[in-house]
Amino acid sequence: MLSRSHELLAARNLHPGNIMRSSATLSCSCREVCGLVTDAAPNTVNRVVCYCDDCQAFLHKLDRADLLDDQGGTDVVQLAPASVSFVRGTERIVGLRLTPRGVYRWYASCCRMPLGNTLGPAIPFVGVLARAFEGETQTPDQLFGHPIGRIFGRHAVGHPPEGSTRLNPWLLARAVRMVVGWRLRGKTWPHPFFDRTRRAPNFPLTTLSAEEREALRPLCGPNPSLHRRR
Ligand SMILES: [Zn+2]
Ligand SMILES: [Zn+2]
Repeated sequence: MLSRSHELLAARNLHPGNIMRSSATLSCSCREVCGLVTDAAPNTVNRVVCYCDDCQAFLHKLDRADLLDDQGGTDVVQLAPASVSFVRGTERIVGLRLTPRGVYRWYASCCRMPLGNTLGPAIPFVGVLARAFEGETQTPDQLFGHPIGRIFGRHAVGHPPEGSTRLNPWLLARAVRMVVGWRLRGKTWPHPFFDRTRRAPNFPLTTLSAEEREALRPLCGPNPSLHRRR
């Protein structure tokens, strides 16, 4: 009979999150910008589809609405900042904020592919598009499992996906637990987008004017009145 510790070890090894725990690569669409993620596994991240109008507006602003799903959803993997690093093409990284106090949305200037959403170092997480992990030897599903939730469905185009319009306490608690854990375990630094000493962004940043932000609303759900040519 196995000892208790052996049983525990066996149980842990059987957990899909540990079997697949590994490093992963991420890149922009044209592969000018490449990065690495350590400790990539379903139980070390939050993968959710966000239908909020800010995420939609951002992709419309970049002319990358092709990255939204049919209902305007953005499939995002939230990771610990210290687990993400860029190894190539960093000179291409630029940031955009939809409002002066909004989320920092970093993207690759070459192909306008989003590279990571952050709220700044005080709330340590980086939300990377699942699509950035598509590669010859890996898929986002293999690395992180399927999305575990859908949020802000009131902005979804068409009928909101099941369970996406209500606050999901389980999902929220999981996200908070993960971010607090990363903070306590020192996973904020090194941050891929912020300088530790200055607590300031590492890359050039622009902020939309109120008019520019408003101009994007008709493109977004729940009832887009404008359709941008692809
Ligand atoms: Zn969003
Ligand atoms: Zn690119």
